[in-house]
Amino acid sequence: MSVDRRKFLKFAGLAALGAAAKPLAVVAQEAEQVVDSSLPQENPLTAKRWAMVIDMQKCLDHENVKDCAQACHEAHNVPDFGNPKEEIKWIWMEDFHKAFHEQNHEYIDEKLHHAKFPVLCNHCDNPPCVKVCPTQATWKREQDGIVMMDWHRCIGCRYCIVGCPYGSRSFNWRDPRPHIKKINNEFPTRSRGVVEKCTFCEERLSQGKIPACVEAAKDDAIVFGDLEDPESKVRELLRSRFSIRRKPQLGTQPEVYYLV
Ligand code: SF4
Ligand code: SF4
Repeated sequence: MSVDRRKFLKFAGLAALGAAAKPLAVVAQEAEQVVDSSLPQENPLTAKRWAMVIDMQKCLDHENVKDCAQACHEAHNVPDFGNPKEEIKWIWMEDFHKAFHEQNHEYIDEKLHHAKFPVLCNHCDNPPCVKVCPTQATWKREQDGIVMMDWHRCIGCRYCIVGCPYGSRSFNWRDPRPHIKKINNEFPTRSRGVVEKCTFCEERLSQGKIPACVEAAKDDAIVFGDLEDPESKVRELLRSRFSIRRKPQLGTQPEVYYLV
């Protein structure tokens, strides 16, 4: 998409909503910063349906997953405002009873009850966040199911945050750039008034690299692969172990699976 079209969509969205979450000066500045990481690169990793499998037993050893959030947030210029109310998170550790509320009961294994597990955008097959976005700043990618973000199209209405039942999206109430510890120049920064979330590391996949959190996890605690390939590791794990997903009753069809 050309920069001019992006500008048009953004202004059209603002007019339609009648509520400018971002100053127009910021909108114009962003339009000049279009980065298209979806351009084909050498030896990209491809799949018909990317999915993630997280081994809860291995996560009980916190060492196995303790570096995942940091690796992700460093790779993607995720700011740290030092304030839980403004927290921007792409992947984080969540208590079992919060992440899997419907699975919890008073007799559950103590180890599970007191443990935390990595949670992130589930790249739902039926993503409610996509349906509510007025500018198509978020969409499910046809070729591999990744729920993408175009930060330059986001007008900050935050409908997608309300639409996501997993709390997987964060909003930049302030300019995040001064709060990024060390800027990775190979990945775009965002600006005030923009929503962000995990993108299954689509930029790394396009360069032939596995997601940063998967790389940082030890002992294969997190595995990434093609759900449509019966020979893939994710399919093998889902065949051989019992798995659960977050809030499956909502019909969102999350594509992050947890091995019990
Ligand atoms: S987890 Fe939330 S943000 Fe991610 S695809 Fe599902 S509804 Fe959208
Ligand atoms: S897949 Fe990539 S963007 Fe998503 S949580 Fe893992 S490291 Fe972060």
